[in-house]
Amino acid sequence: MIFSNYHTHTKYCDGKNTVEEMVLSAIRAGLKRIGLSGHMTLPFPNDWTIREEHLENYLQDITDAQKAYGDQIQIYTGLEIDYFPYLDDISEQSKSILHRLDYYICSLHCVDFFPNSSEMGYYDGDYDNFERVLEELYQRDPKRLVEDYYHRYARMAQKIKPDILGHLDLIKKHNHQYHFFDEESDWYRDLVMETLREIQRSGSILEINTGKIHQFGMAGLYPSLWIVNEVINLKIPITVNGDSHDIDHICDGYNTVARYLKLNGCRKIMVFEKDQWIEMPL
Ligand SMILES: [Zn+2]
Ligand SMILES: [Zn+2]
Repeated sequence: MIFSNYHTHTKYCDGKNTVEEMVLSAIRAGLKRIGLSGHMTLPFPNDWTIREEHLENYLQDITDAQKAYGDQIQIYTGLEIDYFPYLDDISEQSKSILHRLDYYICSLHCVDFFPNSSEMGYYDGDYDNFERVLEELYQRDPKRLVEDYYHRYARMAQKIKPDILGHLDLIKKHNHQYHFFDEESDWYRDLVMETLREIQRSGSILEINTGKIHQFGMAGLYPSLWIVNEVINLKIPITVNGDSHDIDHICDGYNTVARYLKLNGCRKIMVFEKDQWIEMPL
């Protein structure tokens, strides 16, 4: 069974609830470990990450929750930190806060700034933003967009080697409504396999992210089921995360995912215990 979730968001970024409410929800759901992973402040304006002036409060709220509920659940301090292709790195501000965290997730949300603009294009932004990404940054060549995405993801794994690599195939997000590439095609599968081998070399943990299961069922799982099987074959360490943005989705799909993992030969997942990642039987 799965009793942990290291990918949770609060009101400090784009989540709906407080740190305390998320912790209480995890306790009610029977989880034994929860990690808070607010979106780290970005070096440009946006409306979805923790504001710089709130970072201390965010960290303090987690410390307060540890004092109040630490006898009922292990609570860990994390962040979801962006890798920026234009920097080939995380931000300097992110680096300066790492020593205060138990762990961090590194994710690839940002494509690049639009031409002659300070506005960012995102892999997982709204429809209009994504249209502009395709039009202005990729001249309507979706294959090149997808190729770039995976090359960048592989580079993030290779260079940053974070504790956890976030939502591997996020690039498929807009494919649900707006089919722009074939997830069954050989070139796509080759690209994913190439990326998995780089992840394997990095030693980072890959998350199985259930954040979109409430919308799309198992088709919403990151990564897709066929990729999960390859991850198991390659013995890449995994953990299962909810990418929870409110108290109602604290461990969506956990039972189904646990069953799937076991049926396909996965026997253990990684959990954070005091100050290190250890293997835990599934
Ligand atoms: Zn993310
Ligand atoms: Zn997230």
